[in-house]
Amino acid sequence: MENAYEYEITVIGGGPGGYVAAIKAAKEGKKVCLIECANVGGVCLNEGCIPTKTLIKTANLYESILHADDFAIEGVEPEKISVSMKKLQSRRQAVVNQLVGGVKGLLRGNKVTVVEGRASFADAHTVTAGEKKITSEYFIIATGSDTFLPPLIAQEGKNDVITSREALLLEELPKSVAIIGGGVIGIEFAYLLGTLGSKVTVLELMDNILPMVDEEVSAMARKRMEQRGIVFHTGAKVTKIKDNSVLFETKGGERSIAADKVLMAVGRVPSTEGLGAKEIGVNFEKNAIVTDEFMRTNVKNIYAIGDVNGKVMLAHTASHEGVAAVAHICGKPACVHYDRIPSCIYLEPEIAAIGLTEKQAREKCPDVKVGKFPMVANGKSLVEGDTDGIVKVVLDGTTGEILGVHLYGKHVTEMVAEISAAMTLEATADEIIDTIHPHPTVSESIPEAFMAAYGKAIHYL
Ligand code: FAD
Ligand code: NAD
Repeated sequence: MENAYEYEITVIGGGPGGYVAAIKAAKEGKKVCLIECANVGGVCLNEGCIPTKTLIKTANLYESILHADDFAIEGVEPEKISVSMKKLQSRRQAVVNQLVGGVKGLLRGNKVTVVEGRASFADAHTVTAGEKKITSEYFIIATGSDTFLPPLIAQEGKNDVITSREALLLEELPKSVAIIGGGVIGIEFAYLLGTLGSKVTVLELMDNILPMVDEEVSAMARKRMEQRGIVFHTGAKVTKIKDNSVLFETKGGERSIAADKVLMAVGRVPSTEGLGAKEIGVNFEKNAIVTDEFMRTNVKNIYAIGDVNGKVMLAHTASHEGVAAVAHICGKPACVHYDRIPSCIYLEPEIAAIGLTEKQAREKCPDVKVGKFPMVANGKSLVEGDTDGIVKVVLDGTTGEILGVHLYGKHVTEMVAEISAAMTLEATADEIIDTIHPHPTVSESIPEAFMAAYGKAIHYL
C-alpha cells in the first residue's frame, strides 16, 4: 500500500541530533525530509562546540608560545606576541564553514530532502515551513536550545550584556568581563578570555564552580585558573546588572563588580517557540518536551531528541538519541545509557568525566572504592611540561564495577572514550588493569588509578 504521507520520517532541526537522525533514517531506507530554519550543524557546529574549541585552540597555542623558553626554544619575545582577534574570527568561520559544508554534502549524498524554513505543526502528521506544507508518517523534533537571559536578574541603565553567541564573535578583546554562571559555558569562556588577556571575574551561585564535576577536579581547575589571574566568587547569587555593574549577594553581604562586558551563562532553554507542538497536544515539562526511553512523546508518531527534550544538553547525546529514535521507528532495539555519557570541558589542562562522582557514588552504593593517580607521576605529562592533574576512579568495592572516572590533565578528552567502551562492555577494574596501555602516554595513568584503588599502584607510593 502506498504511504499516505509525502515522507516516512521528517526531522525538524539540523543540529547534531537532527542531521544524524536524518542520515541514519536514510541509511535504513526511509524517505526522509529535514527542515532547518538557519544552518545545518545547529548550535554545535555554528555557535557551540566547534567554534568555541577553535578559539580555545588558539588560546592554548598562544600560552605555549609565551612559554617557549621552558622548552629550550630561544628568540621568542613574549611582549611581541599577540593574537589577532580578526584573524582568529576568520579561522573560526573557515572551520565552521568547512564542517557545515560537509554536513550538507552528507545529507545530499544520503538523498535527504532539506527544506529551508521554520517548521510549525498543523496537526500530528503535517507541518508548515514558510509556504511549504509537509506531511509525514513520523516526526522527530530536534530543535535544540537557545540562549537564556533570566528575568530574575534585573537589568537597569545602560548595559553591555552578551551571551555565548556574541562572545564567540568578539573582534576585540574586552579589557574586563564579568561572567554570570560558573557552569561549562562560563568556565570555558573564562579560560579562553582570561588566557587571551581579559580580566575575568566569574560569579557562581553554588559553592563550587562546575557544580556537575567531581569536587576534587573542579577545585584543581579553579586553583589553576586562579593562578592565571581569573577571579571567582562562589556562593554568589547575581540579582541585578546596573550600568555594567553586576550586583550579587554572598554570605558576607551584597557586592558588585564592574566590567566592560557581562557574559550571561546561567543555562540554556529548549527551543520550541512557534513550533506549535503544545497546540497539537505534545506534553511539556517546564520548557522541555517530555519523552520516554525511546525518545517518543505522548503523541505516538512524534519523537523529540537532543537539547529540546531537556535530558542532557550535549552534542553526542543528541546524536545518540537521534539514532535511538530512528531505531525505534524502524522496530529495532533502541536505548541510550544515560549513566555512561562522557562529558568534556576544554581548558588547559582538560577535564573529562563519565559516570558518578565520588559524592554521588557514596550516596548510592554501600561499598565504594576510590583510586587516584596524580599526573605528576606520569612520564608523558612531564614531557608535555604540564603535570597538573589526576585520574580518579570510583568503583563498586564489592564487584569492581566502574561507577565513574574523572580525569584532569593533558589530552584527557581523547582518553575518556576508553572508559566509555569499558563501561559499555561492563568491564571490571581487573580488566582495565590487564589492558596494555602504550608507553609513554598519559593514558598509562588510567590502569595506575585502578590499581591504586586496591593499594597496588606501581608508579606511585
Ligand atoms: P541544536 O544544535 O541546537 O540544533 C537545533 C537546530 O534546529 C538549529 O539549527 C535550529 O536552527 C533548528 N530549529 C529550531 N527550531 C526550528 C524550527 N521550528 N524549524 C526548523 N528548524 C528549527 N556540547 C558538547 O557535547 N560538546 C561541547 O564542546 C559543547 N560546547 C558548547 C559550547 C557552547 C557555547 C554552546 C552554546 C553549546 C555547547 N555544547 C557542547 C552543547 C551542544 O551544542 C548542544 O548540546 C547540541 O548542539 C544540541 O544538539 P541538537 O541537535 O539538540 O540542537
Ligand atoms: P550550566 O547549567 O552548565 O551552568 C549554569 C551555571 O549558572 C550553574 O553552575 C548555575 O549554578 C549558575 N547560575 C544560575 N543562576 C545563577 C545566578 N543568578 N547567579 C550566579 N550563577 C548562577 O549551563 P551553561 O554553562 O549555560 O551551559 C548550557 C549547556 O551547554 C550545558 O548543559 C552544557 O552541558 C552545554 N555545554 C557543554 C559544553 C561541553 O561539553 N564542553 C560546553 C558548553 C556548553
